[in-house]
Amino acid sequence: MGNILVLIETTRAGTVKPTAAALLGAAEGLGTPVAVLVAPPGQGSELAAQLGGLGAAQVYLAETDRAAHELGTAQVCALADAIAHYSAGLVLVPNTNDSKTVAGRLAIVAGGSVAADAVGLRYDDEGQETIAAHSVFGGDFATESTVEGGLMIVTVRPGALDARAGAVEDPQVTLAAGVAVAAPGARIVEASDIPASAGRPALREAAAVVSGGRGLGSREDFALVEQLADSLGAAVGASRAAVDAGYVPQSLQVGQTGVSVAPQLYVALGISGAIQHRAGMQTAKTIIAVNKDEDAPIFEVADFGVVGDVFTVVPQLIEELAARRS
Ligand code: FAD
Repeated sequence: MGNILVLIETTRAGTVKPTAAALLGAAEGLGTPVAVLVAPPGQGSELAAQLGGLGAAQVYLAETDRAAHELGTAQVCALADAIAHYSAGLVLVPNTNDSKTVAGRLAIVAGGSVAADAVGLRYDDEGQETIAAHSVFGGDFATESTVEGGLMIVTVRPGALDARAGAVEDPQVTLAAGVAVAAPGARIVEASDIPASAGRPALREAAAVVSGGRGLGSREDFALVEQLADSLGAAVGASRAAVDAGYVPQSLQVGQTGVSVAPQLYVALGISGAIQHRAGMQTAKTIIAVNKDEDAPIFEVADFGVVGDVFTVVPQLIEELAARRS
């Protein structure tokens, strides 16, 4: 299908975010992956080399420090330039708050349509149209969407795609034209990172997540969830009931009004599995649930379920994991 543009997110420390690998992998499956990168002056070439390692055949580079001060404007401009430069009809961006903003603005600027929160990508049977797959209404329905004959911008749920592209040794780097002259956007007055919890992976991007619910009973006993997470090198998540009870901060809430995750492994401890919780975790590759109620709805989506008390089951699991490691 030609050139597929992938918006690369970077951390404020100037490293490529993990979302890049799956998006470049998906782009390679559909055409030629072109990474669109906005980086502070002087940092572009090193990052471009990293993107080659993740499979970018080409890198469209906008070196500017505007991204640190303006919300998404440099990314919108770089993508709009790149669409024209590469005659691209498909743009992939991570389904994160920052990139969703960019996707909406880009759709206006470049005259395209957004397919939001995709969990899969393929061509139609004729190999003409791109089809995005979505998991909607709390994961109860699988739907597909496409854009007929226009620019398609797809926001891809982090963790949902497994594809990885082969490394490209020396990707061709093209410098973006229009970013410096773009109109100013909303200014960033202050930004701060959510503090990483005890060195654990970030919830949105983690390959494994251990979440706890009201079944943990107290803030103190929620430590059991954290212990299992640390045994597995996983991120910690929670149900809304656990958040409302003050066991953990809201930034760890998984679900419809929290974070959507699609890790390789999701462990739900003492979580009933309400539809609003499932909306945020149902696309995980493997789901394990521990709940003392055998009729809990979480077992409807679990690949493996243990009917039992978390305070009996989880310590044994942690012990077994430790024994296997030693
Ligand atoms: P409960 O439903 O109380 O379940 C606790 C479970 O723990 C039970 O199944 C029980 O059997 C089990 N249990 C108790 N003790 C033990 C034990 N010792 N060992 C093992 N199991 C035990 N919820 C979310 O999670 N995320 C959201 O984003 C979200 N958004 C919402 C948005 C809206 C508009 C609304 C209306 C609701 C939303 N909710 C959300 C709330 C959701 O409906 C549920 O109320 C919530 O998910 C329940 O959390 P829970 O499973 O921890 O608690």
